[in-house]
Amino acid sequence: MFCPACRYEYEEGIIECPDCGEKLIEKLPGEEDEYDYEAETAELCEVEDEIEAGAIRAMLTDTGIYSFLRTNFLPSTRMALFALKQRKMGTIIVNKEDLEKAKEVVEDFKKSRGF
Ligand SMILES: [Zn+2]
Repeated sequence: MFCPACRYEYEEGIIECPDCGEKLIEKLPGEEDEYDYEAETAELCEVEDEIEAGAIRAMLTDTGIYSFLRTNFLPSTRMALFALKQRKMGTIIVNKEDLEKAKEVVEDFKKSRGF
């Protein structure tokens, strides 16, 4: 059982949070979503920079595909890593079920850029 306010887990049989008095619930909201999210996403492609990432993601959004960018470095280390030219800036992540369609979008994008 979990307290929705404190997000602590308590033993079975306890119905109220000893800390704040909230009624305990079986599962914290969002917990299952996080699990699914890990299981159902896939890496689409690596990107060189934010401009490329933004362009690809805009095309994916136009096609109705949800995506997000997982960056390879934290903002504070960004300048240092920018010096490493071969290093990719990040990876675009999509839902697994959208992966094939998303790949076509990326192919079109690369053709349009002359790759
Ligand atoms: Zn509580």
